[in-house]
Amino acid sequence: MSEDRQRGRGQLAADAEGRTDPRRQIPRTDALLVSFADAVRVHGAATVKAVIVTAQQRARAGEIAPSEVASQVAAALPTGPRRVINATGVVVHTNLGRAPLSPAARAAMDAASGTTDVEFDLATGTRARRGRSALAALASAVPDAGGVHVVNNNAAALLLCALAFAAGREIVISRGELVEIGDGFRIPELLRSTGARLHEVGTTNRVHLRDYAEAVGPSTGFILKVHPSNFQVTGFTSTVDIASLTGLGVPVIVDIGSGLLAPHPLLPDEPDAATALRAGADIVTASGDKLLGGPQAGLLLGDADLVERLRGHPAARALRVDKLTLAALEATLRGPIPPVRQTLEASADSLFERASLLAAQIPGAEAVRCVAAVGGGGAPGVELPSAAVSLPMEYAESLRLGEIPVVGRIERGRCLLDLRTVLPSDDELLLRAVLG
Ligand SMILES: *Cc1c(COP(=O)(O)O)cnc(C)c1O
Repeated sequence: MSEDRQRGRGQLAADAEGRTDPRRQIPRTDALLVSFADAVRVHGAATVKAVIVTAQQRARAGEIAPSEVASQVAAALPTGPRRVINATGVVVHTNLGRAPLSPAARAAMDAASGTTDVEFDLATGTRARRGRSALAALASAVPDAGGVHVVNNNAAALLLCALAFAAGREIVISRGELVEIGDGFRIPELLRSTGARLHEVGTTNRVHLRDYAEAVGPSTGFILKVHPSNFQVTGFTSTVDIASLTGLGVPVIVDIGSGLLAPHPLLPDEPDAATALRAGADIVTASGDKLLGGPQAGLLLGDADLVERLRGHPAARALRVDKLTLAALEATLRGPIPPVRQTLEASADSLFERASLLAAQIPGAEAVRCVAAVGGGGAPGVELPSAAVSLPMEYAESLRLGEIPVVGRIERGRCLLDLRTVLPSDDELLLRAVLG
């Protein structure tokens, strides 16, 4: 008998007993469901079972070994958005979800996530204004605003203003303020999409009061001032301040962008809502998830009658915010200082101290001084003195792919973990991620 045939017969005999057919070693569905009980609790049995069946099929097809089925299931389970440690040094990082919420805001969202009195008065048992307590918190945070309203984001706030006050009419805006925010989002295109026409005035670098005055006429809906929040024009420039524009007989709407409600000493050039309203702005619009440090939202603050018209516009319903947003916004406004403010205000020396402590525990690491940024469409050009744990560049990828991903930045061939954007309470997690 040839060697081949001998082996063939041996194989057949083993198959008959079912011992060496690798397919018999594929873990069974019920056993896998038991070992993935945690995942079943999170994702539900149907989702986990579908992932298990797919992995088993791959093993049957010989694409993976039976011993790899469990790890394949683990790798293929849905993750959802994952928690990431922002060590980029960009305080408001749009790709990393902008402002991290405060523990108070998270707790408020949790409490509001079931059935809640968002639109119901428990005292009288009748319907109430939606989100009234969040709106009250906003009104008391910005006493200069006669009325306040909240929509989905700042883009929605601008959209609603254009729809309510300028559809089929003109918005007068400086050419130096035709801004692209990010990911191709251009404010002029958003405004035009409502049917409003833009009446552009001035040049890229200079605009004067007389430019605005000549443009304003019977078809003007409003004058819009947009904060150039992600770039700077320097040199031979001139702009017109809000106070001068208020004398032209049409509403002045000011998009301040980042959502500072009052001046911040560290960001002297960043516009804020209180100052804009005191200067005479009729409506101020802002984001909730930039420097305010809250959830994604668009704030509309200003003249009570105008705000009422915005609230009453049919499109307001399509732009309204969820109960979770209202809960998080209120907690951000009333609660302790949110993480964005904490990270912004930390002293460079305290950051260097933390960097030194961490670096001492990591082979090959050193503490360095560096420069962080506000980012996220706020305070362009502002350099925040900071400190980082400096690591060999190879760390960048392994940290990104770790169990709790850490995103640092590459600077001069090193991977910097900038502590400006890491809360002290996360230092321990950061250390564990680096030490693997
Ligand atoms: C960020 C920004 C926006 C867009 O705000 P979203 O809340 O992201 O919609 C609009 N205008 C300015 C000046 C901004 O900085």
